[in-house]
Amino acid sequence: MSRRFVVTGGAGFLGSHLCEALLGRGDEVVCVDNLSTGDPGNLAGFAGHPGFTFIEADVCQGIPVGGSVDGVAHLASPASPPAYLRLGLETLDVGSRGTAAALALAQRSGARFVLASTSEVYGDPQVSPQPESYWGNVNPIGPRSVYDESKRFAEALTAAHRRYRDVNTAIVRIFNTYGPRLGPGDGRVASNFVAQALAGEPLTVFGDGTQTRSLCFVDDTIAGLIAMLDAGDGVTGPVNIGNPNELTILELAAVVLDVTGSSSPLEHQPLPVDDPLVRRPDITLAGALLGWRPSVDLRDGLTRTVDWQRSTLARGRPDSRAVPPPA
Ligand code: NAD
Ligand code: UDP
Repeated sequence: MSRRFVVTGGAGFLGSHLCEALLGRGDEVVCVDNLSTGDPGNLAGFAGHPGFTFIEADVCQGIPVGGSVDGVAHLASPASPPAYLRLGLETLDVGSRGTAAALALAQRSGARFVLASTSEVYGDPQVSPQPESYWGNVNPIGPRSVYDESKRFAEALTAAHRRYRDVNTAIVRIFNTYGPRLGPGDGRVASNFVAQALAGEPLTVFGDGTQTRSLCFVDDTIAGLIAMLDAGDGVTGPVNIGNPNELTILELAAVVLDVTGSSSPLEHQPLPVDDPLVRRPDITLAGALLGWRPSVDLRDGLTRTVDWQRSTLARGRPDSRAVPPPA
């Protein structure tokens, strides 16, 4: 029998892939999104599906969904650094009031709730790779705190709803994910480098480029999210979802140039304030609790990302998410 899921932030990069994957296995999906950083174009491939409903709404004002709900995947939040730096107060709002509204929906529906948290809760980590038991190193008043602390509060609110209200909650901490629908104007590193390489423009390396990230292809991340949605009440997390294949930003630039065949130069720009110097997930727990591990190789994933950006550019799809890079 098909189940009914509410996906907040479903018009965004990850949310649209999650909606599509759930519909693809026969579930019904209600996507709730205010389109602040999302794009209706992300929904184009399945907007007409009979099991799909789109509601344009700000989840901070409550979530206008009735009827039975089996699962709530709470993804609504700006996620790209330029976007959350532009929408700082909105980011804090959706992590607090928005998360409260999504938890209230799960509580009144008796649904499982999964929070899309982030590796940013570890801040600039002093421990690497990062296991879920690490409490992090976050500057609570720095510019990135609008995102990091919003997600840390969302985790606290989620844990408290399980503790005090017996809501069936779970938390995944997602590490840097890339792939199709990460638009050329999104501002995150993989999409920036691919867009710049395809345009023959300089690849903007922030700082000296020795900082590391561990990039996970979107299909892998979505499989992890769905495994958590499907897991039993006893699986609460937090669980890291990410690819442990760590590389420096300079190494990433070299792979992008190779995959695209571009001869773009590198252009160093200032490192954003509090930019974490290392990031790599310990995914032992995801394997043990969810039987999950990533399988898509970086070059394959980048090739699929490049193909998507090329076809998007060819169609001339307007990029409604264009935001300037951070100073
Ligand atoms: P995205 O910006 O593409 O998508 C976020 C979506 O949330 C957008 O469609 C936006 O319009 C919507 N939204 C924002 N505020 C809202 C509000 N108040 N009400 C309703 N909708 C709202 O970002 P993404 O990369 O798809 O990230 C999705 C989630 O996953 C976020 O919660 C993010 O923190 C988390 N996450 C993503 C990554 C990643 O690498 N993509 C890593 C860690 C965590
Ligand atoms: N970065 C970069 N050039 C860009 C965009 C980002 O060098 O055009 C760097 C950024 O400083 C960070 C890393 O790439 O060290 C990942 O940045 P992103 O914005 O993708 O995500 P973050 O992990 O910072 O949330």
